Amino acid sequence: MNVIHLSAECYPVAKVGGLGDVVSALPKYQQLAGIYASVVLPYYDRKFVQENEFDIILEAEFEMADVTLPFQILKEKTDKLGFALHLIKIPGLLDRPEIYSYPDETEQFLAFQLAFLEWLTYFSVRPDVIHCHDHHTGLIPFLIKHSERYEQFADIPTVLTIHNAQYQGWIDWKKFNYLPDIDPEKIGLLDWNDCINPLAAAVKCCWAYTAVSPTYLTELTHNSNGLEGLFRAEAAKGVGIINGIDTDIWNPETDPMIKVNYGLDEVDTLKDENKKIVCTEFDLSFKKPLIAFIGRLVGEKGADLLPQAIKEVLTTFKDKVNFVILGSGEHYIEDSLSELKDSFSKNYNVFIGYNEALSHRIYAGVDFLLMPSRVEPCGLNQLYSLRYGTIPIVRSTGGLKDTVIDFTKPDGYGITFLNADVEDIFSAVSRAIELFQNTERVNLLRSRMMQLDYSWHQSASHYIELYNSLKI
Ligand code: ADP
Repeated sequence: MNVIHLSAECYPVAKVGGLGDVVSALPKYQQLAGIYASVVLPYYDRKFVQENEFDIILEAEFEMADVTLPFQILKEKTDKLGFALHLIKIPGLLDRPEIYSYPDETEQFLAFQLAFLEWLTYFSVRPDVIHCHDHHTGLIPFLIKHSERYEQFADIPTVLTIHNAQYQGWIDWKKFNYLPDIDPEKIGLLDWNDCINPLAAAVKCCWAYTAVSPTYLTELTHNSNGLEGLFRAEAAKGVGIINGIDTDIWNPETDPMIKVNYGLDEVDTLKDENKKIVCTEFDLSFKKPLIAFIGRLVGEKGADLLPQAIKEVLTTFKDKVNFVILGSGEHYIEDSLSELKDSFSKNYNVFIGYNEALSHRIYAGVDFLLMPSRVEPCGLNQLYSLRYGTIPIVRSTGGLKDTVIDFTKPDGYGITFLNADVEDIFSAVSRAIELFQNTERVNLLRSRMMQLDYSWHQSASHYIELYNSLKI
């Protein structure tokens, strides 16, 4: 079986969040499970691309809005990621450093999809499945069914994975002419609330869609930024498959990004060595429970609640707990998290920005990881923290609900709370501070967490079962 993954992100080429992690691990583990999986990404002028060698395997052109655009397909020479990586380069559109946030993002990802479809016309052997990830690739299931030029591929099964339905890639109908000729009777499939909605079109036209956790699959039917009715109508095509983690990268025994490696037998002693390093780096004292937040500083993650919650905790518990934050996002959240340093410099510190290596040091070096998410389709941070023996404190939603059991329940290991609000964060953190006093129990939970298996092996095979069920 031959599967092509199409995505905007793939670690280490381009990563902003969990999408990047998944699109590098899933194909790698699918290859290990015996199928041929490859990845197609936009070309980004970033470190990985600059430092590796590529072959140009095709130069061709396509039409977008009556303009002819040349493109190149580049293939990384050695398949060093464990699968074939292809990049689509389009001068002026797909040859820039950033992944998102250009004003012409619509044109960028539309061009990515059209160039891919054009490339498909050159294939000598067709793929068995086209696997699209999120809205950036959401027009493909529609276009291969209903555009004159590409309907020759209509019998290739398409799978859509929804990593985050909050973002849907809305396109103004004024840009309809950017698309190739479409069967006029099918134009309505593009529409949702008077916009061209690539995510909605993908849900309508794909052969099957997956959500990145079973709970998120259910949540989509009542909380998906306007698509609730659509998810209810299309529920028969939906499957919930929890993400895994790449245990080659996320392994405290071998992780080159942490100073002191440790396994299950050494966690009681050596994890603290990593804590000392983080405490020194952030100028915090080592003796207190250390709680971290890592992630995008946006409302979805509950990051806007952090300044007030941390303020209340540190005012109430004075010198009994420390916090460290790593993240970037909304400026007003960045600013209030930075300002908090002035009032609580002894017990709080923050790094505003994106820093992969620092994230590894924090997963290894802190006692607790806080995730007060309002929406969390799967969440990878809690899975990394489990692997590193760091107790997750999570709001029970989406994938957090599927993967974290409160430590007071049988076989539990984390701290869970119900509402994304300051009050619930405060009480969950209070429980963490109390739990920290019981070293024996903390050690038991650490060893329980580190033995959990959230590797990709199982989830990758669920995807393969899904592909097999779509065979015609
Ligand atoms: P999302 O994709 O919604 O942002 P996930 O939990 O699925 O959330 O994945 C987040 C990924 O991004 C994790 O690998 C996390 O460690 C990483 N990450 C998020 N913010 C940062 C940051 N500021 N620096 C380093 N890594 C980060």
